[in-house]
Amino acid sequence: MTSAVVAGQHVPAGLPDRIRHFIDGEFVDSVDGGTFDVLDPVSNRTYLQAAAGRQADVDRAVNAARLAFDEGPWPGMQARERNRILNRIADIVESRDARLADLETYDSGLPITQALGQARRAAENFRFFADLIVAQSDDVYQVPGRQLNYVHRKPKGVAGLITPWNTPFMLESWKLAPALAAGCTVVLKPAEFTPLSASLWPEILREAGVPDGVFNLVNGLGEEAGDALVRHPDVQLISFTGESATGQVIFANAAPTLKGLSMELGGKSPAIVFADADLDAAIDSTVFGVFSLNGERCTAGSRILVERPIYHEFVTRYVQRAKMIKVGDPHDPATEVGALVHPEHYAKVTDYIEIGKTEALLAAGGGRPPGLDTGNYLQPTVFVDVPPTARIFQEEIFGPVVAITPFDTDEEALDLANAVKYGLAAYLWTSDLQRAHNLGQRIEAGMVWLNSHNVRDLRTPFGGVKASGLGHEGGYRSLDFYTDQQAVHISLAPVHTPRFGAGTDRTR
Ligand code: NAD
Repeated sequence: MTSAVVAGQHVPAGLPDRIRHFIDGEFVDSVDGGTFDVLDPVSNRTYLQAAAGRQADVDRAVNAARLAFDEGPWPGMQARERNRILNRIADIVESRDARLADLETYDSGLPITQALGQARRAAENFRFFADLIVAQSDDVYQVPGRQLNYVHRKPKGVAGLITPWNTPFMLESWKLAPALAAGCTVVLKPAEFTPLSASLWPEILREAGVPDGVFNLVNGLGEEAGDALVRHPDVQLISFTGESATGQVIFANAAPTLKGLSMELGGKSPAIVFADADLDAAIDSTVFGVFSLNGERCTAGSRILVERPIYHEFVTRYVQRAKMIKVGDPHDPATEVGALVHPEHYAKVTDYIEIGKTEALLAAGGGRPPGLDTGNYLQPTVFVDVPPTARIFQEEIFGPVVAITPFDTDEEALDLANAVKYGLAAYLWTSDLQRAHNLGQRIEAGMVWLNSHNVRDLRTPFGGVKASGLGHEGGYRSLDFYTDQQAVHISLAPVHTPRFGAGTDRTR
């Protein structure tokens, strides 16, 4: 399919003008016919209507998923069969990566090269969990001559998957792949800012051989469709990625029905650069770490702490680089920062920039790039000499904005790193390995990178501490979340049981 340029803007070919739910193998509208507007972030015009799911739609989707779980083949299928289907999903996603990236970029404003990387990562997630379920082994405990104990693993039931807008398709795959691999049936509720790429899942999964009812998709607003899913008594699990404040609401609303919860929440991650660091590598990495994905990245190193002897040099070089970053049309392969997802989010980020101007020194950016008068474009923005009490130091901005702060000692660096409510990721740059490990282990963060930005093996735990999350996924931990581990105990010899009610004849 070839795309067109309309009024100077790249528009993917074959764009739908409406998106429906997908329930029990069929595309359907909302029961009450409700829809919501979806905008593209370059023109901020509504380009499609998406079905706005509410309680009745979520009920339909959960009923379909429940029936597919209780009576369909999916939960009991041989791991090898599910593995084949998941690998086919990966093949199809790979074969459509350009189309996926085209749609994702149009809907989210992510630069096209980065959206393409995310599409490939989505395929990789399916391949990884396909491998994992055929390699899965479970524990057996033997008491010689007396007892055998083993773990029988079974899928938990209907999983509700609620995802954010920052890397929509990839994050959906991060939940769909392990949930389906484990044998759960699912209801996916994608973010309302970016429903476009998710509308490709039904065809992909159907073509790969996922039976009807196993995968269901309900679009809609968080407070309506998302909330109905969270409160539904027939949903056993909620895997949620989004803001910490939303996570708190979901936690409370899931309590009456006692669901399993996996919470991947916000972040304000520190990158600590010591005077003995490889400065070229540290600058490349800390620039990329906060400005890639438009800065809309949960693990962004959005607070850079720099040791005083190199502070001036670091800041000078960092600011030069930030000013050179190419902001522009998300579909242009040369673009490094595209358009922020939505005018509401744009307003939130620009409000933070105004707050920052009263709290610290603005060293780069701080407004709209020249020549880009419409659309959600923002210059990469660097604040320096940021005190730890500043809101731009403490609060997640989730845009191309970084706070740089000097420090004098290792202990001060650690205190600054831990001085926020979040604890998702941390990055340390030093050539002293002892310091790297010792400090790294004391940082309150779920994930620490030493002399690296965010690259991870899919087998490692993923998740945050403090306000950044509850529960870790990644590798077998994801399968643990989506399955019950039932302990089965068998006696291999006569059982010695105290004989209650047998009078004086208490032993045999
Ligand atoms: P958000 O919390 O506003 O929304 C996330 C999802 O939750 C959306 O689908 C939304 O519709 C839904 N939702 C909102 N209110 C709900 C409710 N009351 N009940 C049920 N569902 C509800 O987050 P966002 O703005 O879409 O995403 C940005 C946030 O996500 C940032 O804080 C970012 O750090 C975080 N994030 C975290 C990770 C991670 O792995 N830790 C990854 C990506 C993004």
